[in-house]
Parts: sequence; structure tokens; C-alpha cells
Amino acid sequence: MSRILLLGGIGEALNLARRLGPAHVYSLAGLGKVPDDLACQVRVGGFGGADGLAAFIREQGIDLLVDATHPYAAQISHNAAHAARQAGIACWALRRPGWQASSEDDWREVFDWPSLIAALGDFQRPLFTLGREPLEHLHEIPAHQHWTVRCLQSQPATPRAEVIGARGPFSLDDERALFERLDCDVLVSKNSGSAATEHKLQVARERGVPVLVLQRPILPAVDREFAEAEVLWQALLTNGV
Ligand code: NAP
Repeated sequence: MSRILLLGGIGEALNLARRLGPAHVYSLAGLGKVPDDLACQVRVGGFGGADGLAAFIREQGIDLLVDATHPYAAQISHNAAHAARQAGIACWALRRPGWQASSEDDWREVFDWPSLIAALGDFQRPLFTLGREPLEHLHEIPAHQHWTVRCLQSQPATPRAEVIGARGPFSLDDERALFERLDCDVLVSKNSGSAATEHKLQVARERGVPVLVLQRPILPAVDREFAEAEVLWQALLTNGV
């Protein structure tokens, strides 16, 4: 039987972890909720880069590394590919496809924080759904803008920013109500491809609100890539998990 190290951070990874027995290890960065009801082992926190991860793989006798981290968590994915090579084991990855714009969408791709700020231009009431990064820039908000930042951590509002601490999934009705309350004129989003957070895109489309989409990072080549968690699970079963 293979001993798996499953790197998580998204809902699909947690669903896979729920099916793993006690021989396997589920690893989380520790940014979100840590489940306490799993049969497999759970470890929380970084490994100390690719070398630390390779050392963990060797010490724990891991046979297969499964990268089911967030599509924007590029560092851990690069570390995973590198560490698996170093340790001489295979690395598989769940690579969730991104959302696709329809002809009714107005999506504008941005590449990094400076290009995002430039694209915000004259917009006045952006809604950021990117995670924590905007929290580091709250002191830089231009005079004509009021930001709303939705991320896992809430914090007190400032005169020019509201920070909403919330965890998906977000229903269509709740997203409609949020856009209505904020009267937001631009949405800022990653292209995570998650069903849990896609309703905001529908509401943006309904309201004719443009979406600034942060480009996906380039992820490393691995031994096997899966677009769907269920297909990955079947392959794990075939592999003797
Ligand atoms: P990252 O830059 O790829 O990872 C930073 C470091 O966190 C890694 O080098 C690693 O530390 C540790 N780490 C990440 N995932 C881990 C895991 N599953 N198990 C153990 N350690 C892990 O990713 P990030 O800074 O966490 O996030 C980058 C982007 O992804 C952000 O935009 C964030 O919103 C989004 N995102 C991340 C997660 C997540 O769980 N990481 C979940 C949802 C969204 P060492 O180098 O010390 O091993």
C-alpha cells in the first residue's frame, strides 16, 4: 500500500482527506480551518521549503505526493514537484480548470498588484475577492475610491475600506445582496475555478460590472495531472491507497 502525503488548501483536498485512512498524511498551511474529525494524520504549517519537504517525505516513508493546493499557491506546488524529485517519489497534482468568460462578461486580465492598481483607474467602489493581499495596501487607497475586501480575516473598517471576513461557499442570493449593498462598480478576483465562489461572476454579469481577473501563476510539470478530484481518487485507489 502507498503512503500518501496530500497537500491541501481547497475543498476538494479536504474531501479527499476525508477518505484517507490513518497511514496517510494531510498537510495544511494553517491559514484556514483545521479539521479535527479525520481518520488520516493532519499536520499544519510549512515544511521549510522544498528541502524540508523532501526531508519530511524521506523521514515519514511517503511513497506518493499529491498536490491539491490552491491554484494560486504556486510556491508550495513548485516545492512539491522539486521535493518529490529529490526524494525519488512521484508527484501527482489536482489542477482545477479556471472559469471561462462568456460573451456577456467583461473580464480584464491583470498580471500582478501594480497592473491591478493601474486597471482600477477611475473605478470608485471595487470589491476585492483575492484573499489577504489588499489588506497590506489599505493605506494606499486613492481619494476617489472606497474598497471592500472580502477575505478570511475580518478587521475593523477604516474611512475608505470595509473588510468582510467570510468563507465560501457564497450563495447567488447573498452575492446579489452584497453587490446591491455595496453598489460596487468593479469586481477583483482570482480565476480559482471553484464552484463555491463562482456566483459573484454571475452577479457581475447581471449588473454589467467589469471583472479584473488576476492571471493564474504558472505551475510546475508533475508526473500526473488531474482536472477532477474524483478521477484523482480513482487513480489513488488503483495505486493501492
Ligand atoms: P504559497 O505561496 O504557495 O505557500 C507559501 C508557503 O506556505 C509554502 O512555501 C509552504 O511553506 C506553506 N504551505 C502552503 N501550503 C501548504 C500546505 N498544504 N502544507 C504545508 N505548508 C504549506 O501559498 P500561500 O502563500 O498560502 O497562498 C498563495 C495564494 O493562494 C494566495 O493568493 C492565497 O489566497 C491562495 N490560497 C492559499 C491557500 C492555502 O491553503 N495555502 C488556500 C486558499 C487560497 P514552506 O515553504 O515552509 O513549506
